[in-house]
This record gives sequence, structure tokens and C-alpha cells, in this order.
Amino acid sequence: MLRHPFPVAIVVGVPGVGKSTVVDLSVKILSGRGLRTVVLNYGDYMFKRLSLVGVVRSRDEIRGLPIRIQVENQAEAARMMIRSASEELQGSKGLLIVDTHLLIRTPSGYWPGLPLHVAQELKPDAIILIEASPEEILSRQARDKTRVRKDYADPAIIEEMMRMNRIEALVVASFTGATVNIVYNREGEAEKAARELASILENLIIEKMHHI
Ligand code: ATP
Ligand code: AMP
Ligand code: MG
Repeated sequence: MLRHPFPVAIVVGVPGVGKSTVVDLSVKILSGRGLRTVVLNYGDYMFKRLSLVGVVRSRDEIRGLPIRIQVENQAEAARMMIRSASEELQGSKGLLIVDTHLLIRTPSGYWPGLPLHVAQELKPDAIILIEASPEEILSRQARDKTRVRKDYADPAIIEEMMRMNRIEALVVASFTGATVNIVYNREGEAEKAARELASILENLIIEKMHHI
């Protein structure tokens, strides 16, 4: 099976660029147009499992865990997300949005958020890369006191990750057949980025309707 019965959009980008903010706003736009979306945050699924067993207290501690633990949880989280989306979207013309990362910076090195086995589980129709300038990302990270992104708070690391994210987006697209879009989330213009994202997502829903 190449695709799930519902369209799957994967939203990715450097930590602090504004993925969750823009996704939230775009869901509101789509719901105003009568379109149903299920948003699953990959980090929520990882955190739920790992905090239950007591190995982390916050979502920003997950990437510091031994890779073998992260690998196990990453695979299980993908299965759980698809199970949950399949139940929620059954019989409706909705869309699944997965808020996640293409690369995670761990003490052992950069680690892919969508290795082949995860991509085969999620079967993405589209990968949407959210971007902003490294300066904008740094200042958003600094302003957002709800999160600990110190390990990403360096312009050289952000630039390197942005370059690698674009490459990784094409790699994942090449082995899944997903499309790739880049959406710029400019300072003070999250609403504009959300409108752009909403139009990409709406197109996925419409294409799916025509396919049936
Ligand atoms: P992570 O990958 O760590 O979850 P994220 O990409 O989901 O990060 P958000 O949590 O959505 O990032 O946003 C980080 C901070 O930037 C938040 O405080 C948010 O309010 C702010 N922000 C998002 N978009 C913009 C924007 N266009 N202009 C100014 N601030 C923004
Ligand atoms: P986020 O809130 O999006 O920054 O996610 C919090 C944490 O969840 C990340 O720092 C990672 O440790 C983990 N995470 C998110 N997406 C993935 C993924 N696709 N694979 C593995 N871990 C992930
Ligand atoms: Mg987020």
C-alpha cells in the first residue's frame, strides 16, 4: 500500500521556527472551511511513552536519551499515531498532519526523524518544510520560555540544520513519492504562513476527494 486512505502531511523544520504555531493556525483556517484535520505531534507520542516509564520529565530531554531507546520509541510512536488517525478519520474526508522533525540533534549525532521504517509507516503524501532566517529562529527560541532549546541555539547549527533538512526532505520524498513544499514563516507573519500551509493542505484533501 503506497498511501493511507486519508492524506498525510508531514510538517518539519528547525526547533523554534514555528511549526506548531503555524500548524495550529492553519487547522483553524481549514476548520472554518468545513475541512477536518487531525494534528498529531510526534514529540507528544514520544513523550507520553517515555514519561510514563519515568526516563524523562520534559519533551526536550527525549533527544538526550540513548539512541537505542529513542529508536524503539520512534517506531512505536509511528504505529500509535497511524492507529489513532485511522480511527479518528475513518469514513471522513479528513487529513492527518504530523508535526515532527526530519533531523534531531542528539549527543550521538544528527538522527533522522523519518528513517525508512517510519516513512513506510506514515506514508506521507507531502512534506512541508517551515523556514525562517537563522536570526528569526534564534530570537523565537530565546523568547519562548516554555521550551529548552539551548542545544539548537547557535546560528551555525541552525544554518547547518536548514541545509541538511532540505536535503533530507528530498531524500524522504524520493523513497516515499511525497511532494515537497517550503513555507516561509516570517517574523510577525505566522498567519500568512498558515494561509499558505492551509492552501497546500486543502489541495491534498481535494485531490483525495477526486481520487475516490
Ligand atoms: P519545536 O520544534 O521545538 O516544537 P516549533 O517549530 O514547533 O518548535 P513553535 O513552538 O511553534 O516552534 O514556535 C516557537 C516560538 O516562536 C513560539 O513562542 C511562537 O509563538 C513563536 N513564533 C512562531 N511563529 C512566529 C512568527 N511568524 N513570528 C514571531 N514569532 C513566532
Ligand atoms: P517537538 O515538540 O516537535 O520539538 O518534539 C519534541 C521531541 O520529540 C524532539 O526533540 C524529539 O526528541 C522527539 N521527536 C519529535 N519527532 C520525532 C521523530 N520523528 N522521531 C524521533 N523523535 C522525535
Ligand atoms: Mg513544536
